[in-house]
Amino acid sequence: MTKKGILTVISGFSGAGKGTIVRELVDRYGYAVSISATTRDPRAGEQDGVHYFFKTKEEFEQMIADGALIEYASYVDNYYGTPKDYVMQKLEQGIDVILEIEMQGALKVKERFPEVSLIFITPPDAKVLRERLEGRGTETQDVIEKRLARAAQECAYMDQYDYIVINDDLNVCVEQIHGLIQALHWKCVNQQGQIAKMKGEFANKA
Ligand code: 5GP
Repeated sequence: MTKKGILTVISGFSGAGKGTIVRELVDRYGYAVSISATTRDPRAGEQDGVHYFFKTKEEFEQMIADGALIEYASYVDNYYGTPKDYVMQKLEQGIDVILEIEMQGALKVKERFPEVSLIFITPPDAKVLRERLEGRGTETQDVIEKRLARAAQECAYMDQYDYIVINDDLNVCVEQIHGLIQALHWKCVNQQGQIAKMKGEFANKA
């Protein structure tokens, strides 16, 4: 029996560096990352099927109706959601999967899969967040203000996460998260196959 992969959710304030961290985790350690569906417009350089599956509102609502999403949420005027099939397939194949999603979605995933671990990435302080968002230059000032307002709301729910990791130094942060996910393999809840095997073997000998 293949050991199932572990599902981890990574969230964080917009501008916290999640995207870069997740990319590094994939490149260095081969994690599978779910590609989300969204109704927001592609940013310069973003490709359909690579960064997101870009959908119209109608297409997205059809995915909801078809039960094709593990979770979905509305974030700063757009829908975002996680397609179900890819995630389930990778977990069955024993590959660890990361979902990079916002907080409402993360809490829905936890309801549906209580064994999931929720990791929240935060910059060292709020000032750094504004500087990173403005420095990125991918959003209008209006959207930046909305994202900062959303970050202020999200603060209230940070303690619903299992782990908080500070992204001060990118490299350190990536290694900390990798170490954390690896350690999750040893949790009892993720060792059900081994437990069943040992029980079976002892039962046969008795
Ligand atoms: P962005 O527009 O910056 O790519 O993403 C905005 C927010 O949506 C980020 O916090 C990102 O983590 C979140 N997000 C991306 N994909 C999903 C998804 O499938 N579900 C949910 N709930 N949030 C998502």
